[in-house]
Amino acid sequence: MRIRGTSVCAGMGLAKALIVEQPVEVDLDERETLTISECRQKLSSHLALLGEEMTSLSARLLEKGSHDESEMLMMHLAMLQDDDFQDSICSHIEKGYSLAASIMRGAKEMGQLLIDSGDAYMAERAGDAEDIAFRLICHIKAVPFPSLSCLKEPVIVAADDIAASLLMGADYGHIHGIVLSKGSKTAHISILAASLEIPMLINCGDLSVLYDQAREHPDECIFLNAVDSCLSCRMSDEEKEAAVKTKIAYEAERAALEKYRTVEAKTKDGRRIYINGNIVETQVISNILKYGGDGVGLFRTEFMFMNRKTLPSEDEQYAVYHAAAKKLNGKPLVIRTMDIGADKPVEALHLDHEENPFLGYRAIRICLGNQELFKTQLRAILRASVFGNVRILVPMISSMHELDQTIEVLESVKTDLNREGMAYDKNIPLGIMIEIPSTAILAGDFIRKADFFSIGSNDLTQYTLAVDRMNEKVQYLYNSLDPAVLHLIRNTIDACAGAGKYCSLCGEMAAEAGSLPILIGMGLVNISVNPASILPLKRLIESLNYEELRKSEALPFA
Ligand code: PEP
Ligand code: MG
Repeated sequence: MRIRGTSVCAGMGLAKALIVEQPVEVDLDERETLTISECRQKLSSHLALLGEEMTSLSARLLEKGSHDESEMLMMHLAMLQDDDFQDSICSHIEKGYSLAASIMRGAKEMGQLLIDSGDAYMAERAGDAEDIAFRLICHIKAVPFPSLSCLKEPVIVAADDIAASLLMGADYGHIHGIVLSKGSKTAHISILAASLEIPMLINCGDLSVLYDQAREHPDECIFLNAVDSCLSCRMSDEEKEAAVKTKIAYEAERAALEKYRTVEAKTKDGRRIYINGNIVETQVISNILKYGGDGVGLFRTEFMFMNRKTLPSEDEQYAVYHAAAKKLNGKPLVIRTMDIGADKPVEALHLDHEENPFLGYRAIRICLGNQELFKTQLRAILRASVFGNVRILVPMISSMHELDQTIEVLESVKTDLNREGMAYDKNIPLGIMIEIPSTAILAGDFIRKADFFSIGSNDLTQYTLAVDRMNEKVQYLYNSLDPAVLHLIRNTIDACAGAGKYCSLCGEMAAEAGSLPILIGMGLVNISVNPASILPLKRLIESLNYEELRKSEALPFA
């Protein structure tokens, strides 16, 4: 049986399916049908069983060297076994609430007590209370608790949709693919998977056949072919054999691309195109270097702030940026300041729920509204700047006032470092993302104050066409090659070229074979893509003729 989808990261995987269920919904007002004593008994037997499971999981994590995760699990267990928490759950059971509702109510009360304690460390544990409640409810309802951190064997993760945070801290080596019934190309789970080179298919629609196979025959493999955008399950012996052959042939083709590792990306007529890599964590830099990439064109630092209870300190961030700069050994490292908000929530910031988060309080807006947070990151970047070719990139700039404020904050951080006698690159370039139409339209004005531009075509497309990049129902309208989007891109490239400054494009379209020739024809010479695309793009660029592309009638005029 074949299921079609949309590929967001080419590659193939042949492994068992691991179904990640949607988190259980808990209705806080649900009433219980069991008697109070049955309910109490059920609670205590699940608490005991879950306690045993968590203890042995923690020991396994410790053996693997995952000290932090192991410690965190034991801390969760202690909270779960806390007498006050259990008394609070029982008091809700006695009021007639269902077991799940009572557990969640108990967790919320415990969370509030922690917040009210006035102790910053304890307040940060409030989110843990709901996590453990959720783990216990999953246990009672016999629903797997979503976690990808201690896989024992290769799997292909299948789900309706999953949050990017689920992949953070996951056991990447064992994730041979991801298939989603929903999803979108520019959602961050897709970007993260592509950056980690995990083959991935989205928009697969109904996956119930796959789910049934995973339940009835959990040892059977499925074949994810994200090159041909399809997934095979319930395979006959012949189909299995064909899948193995296809995968071997694909691996051989990838091997043939290896010769491009040492080749510089140049068009047929000799125009040099600089291919940088997008990263969400520094591990991936080795792949960029392995593929002969020119540097890091986009470090999405917000992922460092996600899926954790506390914010990374200045020293923690400095250690990461410093290591990245050293690893790149003089090649550019463009560090984008945190692009938090919308589909990249940061629990530790306790941001309010918003009706239109993509148009709301996010990215530079949060940084300018919480300057201590922003300054901490800028200090860490500046301190690391002496160890390499570091540049600062600011996301979501929508007005000149924001750019002026950003420059002001950066200058004040530099003044502080000067006073403290700390070294940093005095000429560190400050660039802005061009991803909002207002900035693209006025690119000529912005380039007078910014040192460089990086075009964020993912957001630029969504904001120009008013198409939510996360909503699969309107994906048919999401088109980075729409003339209006291309017009803004051209305006941006021309403004930068006119000022003799550096312009790059780091959205997903840079890696698309149908888009890159148009971008090169518009004069773009710097792109930043997922590392896995570097070698195929070098091969594509070698087949292009810049002079012909430049004269192409398909190009928009600025
Ligand atoms: C973009 O918007 O094109 C971009 C590169 O930023 P992100 O995908 O992280 O929003
Ligand atoms: Mg963006």
